[in-house]
Amino acid sequence: MIKSIYNKFIFLLIACGSIYTSHSQVNPTKVLSEYIQIKSVSGNEKKAGLYMKKLCEQFGLHTTVFSDSDSSYNFCASLVPLELKLPSILLINHIDVVPVEENTSWKHPAFSGKIDRDTIYGRGSIDMKGLAVMQVFALKRIKEMARPDSLTKNLVLLFLSGEETGGLNGAKKIIQPEILDQLKPLVVFGEGGGGLKNVIDGKENELCFFVSNSEKKSIWIKLEATVKSHGHGSVPSSKTANKILLKAIQKIENTEERIIVDNDAKKTLRALGDIMGGYKGFILKHFHWWIIKPLRKKIIHSNEALQTLVTNSYQLTQIQNPKGGSVNQVSQTASAYYDCRLLPNKSERPLLLKWLFRIIDPRIKISIIDESPEAEPSKLNIHFEHMKASILTVFPKAHVIPLMFPATTDNSYFRSADIPSFGVLPFELNREMVESVHANNEKLPVVALEQGINVYVELLKYYTK
Ligand SMILES: [Zn+2]
Repeated sequence: MIKSIYNKFIFLLIACGSIYTSHSQVNPTKVLSEYIQIKSVSGNEKKAGLYMKKLCEQFGLHTTVFSDSDSSYNFCASLVPLELKLPSILLINHIDVVPVEENTSWKHPAFSGKIDRDTIYGRGSIDMKGLAVMQVFALKRIKEMARPDSLTKNLVLLFLSGEETGGLNGAKKIIQPEILDQLKPLVVFGEGGGGLKNVIDGKENELCFFVSNSEKKSIWIKLEATVKSHGHGSVPSSKTANKILLKAIQKIENTEERIIVDNDAKKTLRALGDIMGGYKGFILKHFHWWIIKPLRKKIIHSNEALQTLVTNSYQLTQIQNPKGGSVNQVSQTASAYYDCRLLPNKSERPLLLKWLFRIIDPRIKISIIDESPEAEPSKLNIHFEHMKASILTVFPKAHVIPLMFPATTDNSYFRSADIPSFGVLPFELNREMVESVHANNEKLPVVALEQGINVYVELLKYYTK
């Protein structure tokens, strides 16, 4: 079955002075090392963005800045000027990185960009500065090969802010009509799954690339109980805010999940079943058949990755009382937060809310504190085929499998604007690398950097023919 390594994607899901501005020795490894050293935790993207903009200009690319503040620095670098109004192929990346938690131990400091033997260490090396460097060097190579006057499509790299904090300072601004009108994107390629071995039992050496064509929709929900009860802990009462909230939580936790095998899940399961073969492969391939129904629950409960593909999830992330009370004081309010991830199907959101309002005590206020855009899955069109063929050119023995990505990325914004969007890290990852994303010791081997450049070069070639 699909091993839990895939599930780690849920977490994916990727300050320097004047000495770094000359790009004196321009090679991908050095550039990534320097880019990592410019600390760009969400809200502080501009300095790192300026570094990449300067590099793109040095490579002869045309740059356009869309927004220009420290916390919202968004620009593109294109093969020919946007003024030519060609439809574009967009490769997107985000400048921002997640913070480094205190007291985590790194082999090399998180913002050192240390090159240790054949590996580049640091926050953002995979998510997503590494991808940005791959995109820039791929476009540089294409520029050396292509004849700009014969182009029918522009090739455009888009550097975005704020992906890690929900895309409001980046992708959301870009999908406004006046900017899309300048970019004219036909397709978007961004982050997503990657190349993994050890995915399928009995076929540990098969390399599988997961290309996302859809993402789960995230909705963050707050439940708040406010109850006027006795304030002193010595008075017994079953009607306190905490107890009412806990009962609601129990109801949510005890609800059995619905299994939904939609068309996109079918495609993923069919591809995995084909590779797996045998009895288990047959079951995966026919997971939607009524005859398999009695087995489904047992299978998904022993396999988190599969569960993610065919169910909505409701994760209780925080329970809170107002700060400052003593142990003998009964809190009059209590809150719980749920991170809900819904299958990408427009009917799921109203269903979730209806269900919550039905099962939860009316004394609890339900509010949505954030949600990702409503985005339909992208069809597996010619652009998906180009990405697939490019991966197979670089990794001839790999399998390329469409995937619904369990986390939300900037790709969803473009899908919500009806632009087909596909997400993949175009290189081979091992378990250690996957687990390092958003955690400590994030790192990218130099060989992966080369693989990614090669895949992007193959991809961009399709659009210069
Ligand atoms: Zn990312």
